Amino acid sequence: MRRKLVAGNWKMHGNHRDNAELLSDIMAARPFGCEVSVCVPYPYLSEVAVGLAGSGLLWGAQDCSAHERGAYTGEVSAAMLAEFRCRYVIVGHSERRQYHAETDQGVADKAKAALACGITPIVCVGETLVQREAGQTEAVVKRQLSAVIHALGHCAGEMVVAYEPVWAIGTGRVATPDQAQSVHALLRAQLSAATPHAGDMKILYGGSMKPDNAASLMSQPDIDGGLIGGASLKAADFVAICRVAG
Ligand code: PEP
Repeated sequence: MRRKLVAGNWKMHGNHRDNAELLSDIMAARPFGCEVSVCVPYPYLSEVAVGLAGSGLLWGAQDCSAHERGAYTGEVSAAMLAEFRCRYVIVGHSERRQYHAETDQGVADKAKAALACGITPIVCVGETLVQREAGQTEAVVKRQLSAVIHALGHCAGEMVVAYEPVWAIGTGRVATPDQAQSVHALLRAQLSAATPHAGDMKILYGGSMKPDNAASLMSQPDIDGGLIGGASLKAADFVAICRVAG
């Protein structure tokens, strides 16, 4: 039985005061029956690490460099994130693929860099609306995941995968449970061919998950939790989704 994971993606939102209030409301709602994490902007990692230490809640970042160190102005290495005891780092979010021209290989390199520093990458895959309507969903997500599987080799079983249809992110348009489950099942089949640990791996759904649709999505056999954007900024909604998860 896989334990569900609910990971909040704060994106580029927050400030000292709002973050403290949000975390205090989430902490007040403990305990949770699922794993709960928040992925926060870099400048807040230190205070979030201090605030959540010993709470049972986990934290992470939203990206990391593929490079170990060096002249890469503006980049943050996985080793630096590890110093803040990050448990997770999101890699390959569609906003980064779209606005920062991240390639499948670049995402795979980041996932590898994260694992090398003991941080679990949450690897995002997902098709655009145009790709879905052209019947390319399966080919797109398989291609994206394949690059990461190839880069991680025998460690592939250590990543978390997040299926995030691009057309559902921040749009209020959510995939139906059947649509999501069918992609999750094919991702798990692809993982099964690559690692004996596929049955234990978490595959999250992300894209306009809210308290009112979380139960139908998370009751699907291959949906092991959620990567939550907008709803992770509202304590009541985030907590409600965590309650659904366990
Ligand atoms: C995300 O950014 O990963 C996400 C799923 O956003 P939202 O929940 O707002 O659609």
